[in-house]
Amino acid sequence: ESEIPEDHPRYQSLLTRHRIEHGVDLGITSKQGLIAEGRGEAFDYLLGEETLPSADAAARAAAAYLLLAEHPVLSVNGNVAALVPGEIVELAAATGADIEVNLFNRTPERMEAIAEHLREHGASEVKGLTADGRIPGLSHERAKVDADGIGDADVVVVPLEDGDRAEALGAMGKTEIVIDLNPMSRSAQVAAVPIVDNIIRAVPNITRHAEELADASDDELRDITASFDREAALAEAERAIREGDLD
Ligand code: ATP
Ligand code: MG
Repeated sequence: ESEIPEDHPRYQSLLTRHRIEHGVDLGITSKQGLIAEGRGEAFDYLLGEETLPSADAAARAAAAYLLLAEHPVLSVNGNVAALVPGEIVELAAATGADIEVNLFNRTPERMEAIAEHLREHGASEVKGLTADGRIPGLSHERAKVDADGIGDADVVVVPLEDGDRAEALGAMGKTEIVIDLNPMSRSAQVAAVPIVDNIIRAVPNITRHAEELADASDDELRDITASFDREAALAEAERAIREGDLD
């Protein structure tokens, strides 16, 4: 990462790309993950590689939901593990959330490599390897979760989640926080809290809000979740992408 000059106009996207490449080398990120990264980069380019005010409001609502939750869980896939492993561990610490590895293309090797990578970044417990729970309405491999992890969660953070699974998790009554650069993707469309931002910026931003709200009362937190407008957040992101002035 050190050879990228920080004043390079595409610094952040080059850094992101570098981390994803490294993730592939480590056996963490899949080939499909590379394609997902390319799609994300295109949307981030159109957003000016900046966090919109509406995405910041979504990150604050996400923090409030996580602090109010009985059992919050952060779902981690191969791109998330490659891009923000330490930041996920920090978000879990700030909100008392569990971390669960959850893959679209599940192989025992990738599951273990990701769990190990997260442990190297300070995670004390990583769920997802037991896979004794199921999400109703999905095919066998896609449905696997830990019964005492995502299976039991009331609030889940699902960054870069596939649309089908996002929908099925919502149908289980879970409050879903989705991080996805495409406001038109089904995952973002079905989320209680769609954060249309690069995961690289969004995860530390949720943590910052959670730390700021650490002493807030439940009433104050509920005010934040109640006043968050998901439709407005999606509309604002789509408008920014369509009309954005690029430099
Ligand atoms: P579906 O219709 O199932 O939702 P999709 O259009 O979302 O499919 P995928 O390649 O499965 O396609 O999902 C990748 C999603 O993740 C895209 O919406 C992309 O914008 C988003 N994405 C990729 N990289 C990032 C990132 N770094 N931060 C946030 N979102 C990202
Ligand atoms: Mg999607």
